[in-house]
Amino acid sequence: MARTLDDVPTCEHGRWAFAGADFKRKATKWRCPSAKCAPKSVWLKADRRKPLVPRSTKRFGDLYRGRSAVEREFGRLKHEYGLAPIRVRGLAKVQLHADLTMLARLSQVTGPRLSVHSL
Ligand SMILES: [Zn+2]
Repeated sequence: MARTLDDVPTCEHGRWAFAGADFKRKATKWRCPSAKCAPKSVWLKADRRKPLVPRSTKRFGDLYRGRSAVEREFGRLKHEYGLAPIRVRGLAKVQLHADLTMLARLSQVTGPRLSVHSL
């Protein structure tokens, strides 16, 4: 059993396929495409190149869409709502500034969704 450039096991039958993950052990399972090799599968420690949720799956796409939405909002808070250029000193004042900014942003987002019927 050899490894490809992206660290996935291979044999004479081809590139081994992802066959599941154990999140508790942080390990991924890889299986021979023909199941003729012994052992038929191996557990490899998950890392950046062999993530617990493979990039080709729908689950990864859904997770990544959520992440990009969060990052987009962080960017908006920093650049459009003044969280990047802090003009106060001290943790308490910075915390108050960030809390008030996020509270204002939340009221902007949730306010229009409230209708007369939901009150
Ligand atoms: Zn094989």
